[in-house]
Amino acid sequence: MQHADILIIGGGLTGLSLNYFLKDENLDIVIVEARDRLGGRIHTVGNGHEAPVEMGATWFGPAHTKLKSLLDELNIETFKQKLGEKAIYEPSSMSPHQLVQLPPNQESSFRVKGGTISLIRELSKFMNDDHLYLSCPVQKIEKKKERLIVTADLEIFDVEMVVSTLPPKLLSDSIQLKPLPSEELAETMANTHTWMGESIKIGLTFSEPFWRADDLSGTIFSNVGPIPELYDHSNFEEHKFALKGFLNGSYFSVSKEERKQMVLAQLRKYYGDKTDQFIHYHEMVWANERFTYAPYDRHVLPHQNNGHAMYQKPLWEGSFFIAGAETSETSPGYMDGAVHSAQSVADQIKKSFNHLQKK
Ligand SMILES: Cc1cc2nc3c(=O)[nH]c(=O)nc-3n(C[C@H](O)[C@H](O)[C@H](O)COP(=O)(O)OP(=O)(O)OC[C@H]3O[C@@H](n4cnc5c(N)ncnc54)[C@H](O)[C@@H]3O)c2cc1C
Repeated sequence: MQHADILIIGGGLTGLSLNYFLKDENLDIVIVEARDRLGGRIHTVGNGHEAPVEMGATWFGPAHTKLKSLLDELNIETFKQKLGEKAIYEPSSMSPHQLVQLPPNQESSFRVKGGTISLIRELSKFMNDDHLYLSCPVQKIEKKKERLIVTADLEIFDVEMVVSTLPPKLLSDSIQLKPLPSEELAETMANTHTWMGESIKIGLTFSEPFWRADDLSGTIFSNVGPIPELYDHSNFEEHKFALKGFLNGSYFSVSKEERKQMVLAQLRKYYGDKTDQFIHYHEMVWANERFTYAPYDRHVLPHQNNGHAMYQKPLWEGSFFIAGAETSETSPGYMDGAVHSAQSVADQIKKSFNHLQKK
């Protein structure tokens, strides 16, 4: 049995930011992560020789100030998403695609130099390696008198506080809580939307950005699909090139090869044979990721129950927090929400430990 002050379930942005915000508190913190990697819904792929491709979180906007402050604090550079002046637009299957002028003065969105994974890498430097348990899904959290007993695949932990950073729907489906949460909370968690849980990301790397020619664009909007949106995804330094976008979520059920062929067929309509110069095809079907997505019993709207009041205070006499991007009142579901959630829980934990020390 391992002992700690605080156990954080999940090594995504919320979990690692929380560990960072508590770094000066002299607390014994462990992070228990189900996957064999850190980052959760932040997942940048590539072999280093090509443009890093985001399979998860990519962009932030001017309103995401908490995330931006964290990036600045960690000296991580950011850059504007390249849109170009024109986009390829495919209005319907009855009409051919066309090159349209994008409206001027659009609000920019920003990306992270080196990929969003840079943020995860920097945050993970504030962790003690022997306090990190990878490939270790938590199964049960049990309150026993003053302590919490956490049962995971590889280990059992005896801790003072637990912070779950799982999307609440996943928490309700995959981790047994003892005592059970109230009916109202159980119902809210089961119907809390997991942001982007249904999405499919696709990306292709290239050695040349041929789409930057006058009569082309790397920005695509299509009502025909299967790719509804695609963007220039070249690296910050502008020497490794890629296109990246979304695939209609309903294509989760076909094989990877079938999806790839459909993606290439759509891109050939716009770019012809140049499409086939791609170096690598990357994709991620998030609905198949059991450590992110759990199917709902009934229809749930985007952002439903995100930032719910019940997530703002801990359970079990202050010892169990339900955190994570979806629980934040500000920017729920987004990276900015994850950092807000981590800050809110860190503030509450600091208060609680200061109070205990004064007793
Ligand atoms: C395709 C996609 C695109 C997105 N695009 C953007 C974007 O452009 N901009 C933006 O701001 N946000 C975007 N997001 C959302 C963003 O990724 C999230 O807001 C953020 O990463 C959430 O961080 P988190 O730590 O709260 O949750 P997560 O990243 O989901 O972390 C939870 C962690 O818990 C782990 N876990 C799960 N079950 C267990 C268990 N039983 N035991 C232990 N560990 C467990 C998971 O493996 C994971 O690492 C996107 C998400 C996706 C999927």
